[in-house]
Amino acid sequence: MPRAELATAPGALYHQRVDGRLECVACAHRCALGDGHTGRCGVRHRAGDRLRVPFGYVAASRIRPIEINTVYHVLPGALALTFGMYGCDLACPYCHNARISQALRDGVDVAPTPITPSALVDGGCAAGCKAVCAAYNEPMIAAEWVRAVFTAAHARRLATVVVSDGNTTPEALAYLRPVTDVYRVDLKAFTEAQYGQLGGRLATVLDAIATARRLGYWVEVVTLVVPGFNDDLAGLRGLARTLADIDPGMPWHLNAFQPRYRWRDRPPQAAGLLVTAAGSAYARGLRHVYVGNVSGSVTALQHTRCPACHAVLVARESYRTLDVRLVAGRCPDCATAIAGLWGPRTRAA
Ligand code: SF4
Repeated sequence: MPRAELATAPGALYHQRVDGRLECVACAHRCALGDGHTGRCGVRHRAGDRLRVPFGYVAASRIRPIEINTVYHVLPGALALTFGMYGCDLACPYCHNARISQALRDGVDVAPTPITPSALVDGGCAAGCKAVCAAYNEPMIAAEWVRAVFTAAHARRLATVVVSDGNTTPEALAYLRPVTDVYRVDLKAFTEAQYGQLGGRLATVLDAIATARRLGYWVEVVTLVVPGFNDDLAGLRGLARTLADIDPGMPWHLNAFQPRYRWRDRPPQAAGLLVTAAGSAYARGLRHVYVGNVSGSVTALQHTRCPACHAVLVARESYRTLDVRLVAGRCPDCATAIAGLWGPRTRAA
């Protein structure tokens, strides 16, 4: 099925420029589109005086623990409905969901499932979900659809999570904030040259993280460490310092690369570097640092510990919660408040 046959609706996140082109502000590429043109994401396109945007379908949806989206400080152990669409604003050569996000670029057949926001959310509620996550491809390129789904989710008192690549504008963050609780963002690199290989910019992602936190989103940051790409300890230490300056309570997840998509020939990332980087991040002021996609004794670095007395508060293994000792968001041993959204639809601490 070609892109032109994917369902769309009139968009909201754009404006008309003085030169007559329509500037899309759903992501930081800010494509300026003449009539009939499609943006870099491959899905938002101009038809006459309107921007048409993805709406009314999912490429995939699954029910699974919220932790599998690398979200640790939100409703631990809860089931989440996770959904995605087609297209992406970046082109990462190690994408975990390339069959969805890169399908249009790669000319792969697509098979969308038409659905309404309420039917999608009803399915999550029937399965016992406490949260809805927009993931798999970049949600912001379909922000209008995400907002419609999250509006239905909030009406059912479900928490809402955007899993984003961070190539995000302040306009899109403000547009989604009324119905979105969590901004789970990838921080994929620590130099502009590295980001250039992916099609984005480091400064944009750092700005998005700071803006999301300022707007009151609960923010968790993930850095996938890839051998030969961003596996430099000094660079990772620099990221830790930058994140601590924004908010030392933001969780930072250091995940190990596993070979996939165009970088199938690279080796998996060894755990040792991640453990060292995590220790450095604590030394630079971050309070919650996690190491993921690893096995063996390192799995203890998936637990949430009290930053004051170091007691284990949430025990995890392989992205699943085993035990929660938090009491009303506090350590039961020393009463320290732990930042996060531990109950339904509460505000970020
Ligand atoms: S969402 Fe798509 S059309 Fe809009 S600015 Fe980004 S790449 Fe361009």
